[in-house]
Amino acid sequence: MIKDTLVTSATNSSFDRFSLPDKSGRFGPYGGSFVPETLSHPLRELNDAYLQAKKDPEFQKELDQMLRNFAGRPTELYYAERLSNRLGGAKIYLKREDLLHTGAHKINNALGQALLAKRMGKKRIIAETGAGQHGIATASVCARFGFDCVIYMGAEDMRRQALNVFRMRLSGAEVRGVEAGSKTLKEAINEAMRDWVTNVRNTHYILGSALGAHPYPGMVRDFHRVIGEETKRQFVKMEGRLPDEMIACVGGGSNAIGFFFDFLEEEDVRLIGVEAGGRSLDEGEHAARFEGGKLGILQGCKTWILQNPDGQINPTHSVSAGLDYAAIGPEHAFYKDRGRIEYAHIGDAEALDAFRTLSSEEGILPALETSHGLAHGFNRAKELSKDQIICINLSGRGDKDAMEVARLMETPGIPNAKKP
Ligand SMILES: *Cc1c(COP(=O)(O)O)cnc(C)c1O
Repeated sequence: MIKDTLVTSATNSSFDRFSLPDKSGRFGPYGGSFVPETLSHPLRELNDAYLQAKKDPEFQKELDQMLRNFAGRPTELYYAERLSNRLGGAKIYLKREDLLHTGAHKINNALGQALLAKRMGKKRIIAETGAGQHGIATASVCARFGFDCVIYMGAEDMRRQALNVFRMRLSGAEVRGVEAGSKTLKEAINEAMRDWVTNVRNTHYILGSALGAHPYPGMVRDFHRVIGEETKRQFVKMEGRLPDEMIACVGGGSNAIGFFFDFLEEEDVRLIGVEAGGRSLDEGEHAARFEGGKLGILQGCKTWILQNPDGQINPTHSVSAGLDYAAIGPEHAFYKDRGRIEYAHIGDAEALDAFRTLSSEEGILPALETSHGLAHGFNRAKELSKDQIICINLSGRGDKDAMEVARLMETPGIPNAKKP
């Protein structure tokens, strides 16, 4: 319906966004399924089940209902008027994924995969988590469906995110600390894959971003497409047109690809993903894969990865744990090559500044991940005129980060993190 009136450049018929990933899970040269033999069977089973569910109106109906009455969809499209006036440029709209149950977009995917697991007859769910947001969404959904739930989390992340560990346990999840390597997300994913191989008959692995081996990147994207679909409908209703620019932060890339997907053919809408610039672009100090990365394979998937010349994965840093990962989702790499999505990076200090600006101007505390998208959006808004429109995906709320922000404001050397 919207398409008839609004697709401005559907003539770009040389390429169909629905054709990706192809049958082998590739987005052009990226993606695929680089896994040991023991994992290829469960991945095939998952792919078959997903392809069937995707076509089944009953599945879509049940998911739709759960997204409404459990997660809280649709989320608002909010015009940040005071902020827009203060910056003095384009009108800024925020897509309020932060209002969802458990505080971020992650519940869209957790619900979708949990319903799929139910359909496949699985009784046990495993997941990995870094900062804890995906773990909380998964634990919450598992409580709702009555699944046994095990969350793998690096021991270092468990220490840093003690409150989130407690929240997962309150929802009945078992949180297992992983002591290997740097004791963070990468090791937690390895451990989850190991568990899956061993227990695949009764277990589904809910991966938390548009990453990993086929079918995960495409499936996770599909579960988040609702973000962009709603955004489009809401713009038609509120402004009678689409925004000029859309901006989202990119960790693995799930909130961004879900937000962008329905706009890929709208060539007049500029799409920008924002990576974590960390402390600097020196090796080990950031997570801007398109700045310092190279083509490689990590955890089942071919994509841009931060690695040294020997192929060892580099350490990464970001003030936001959710953007702090060495690989980017393969679909992003594909659209970067095509020039359809542009990528920028924002450092820790600027993200903190945006965190404070949105909090004080609008009374909305954004997640630190989201603050990277916001910072870039604020910069763009100042470049544009008052009759132009920017939409930023507010991927999550900042309650989880408030203590960390308080600590950073006391840290010398972060000039933008002054007390209010
Ligand atoms: C996890 C998370 C992200 C990063 O993950 P993507 O898969 O890139 O979306 C961004 N924002 C919030 C609030 C998160 O919790």
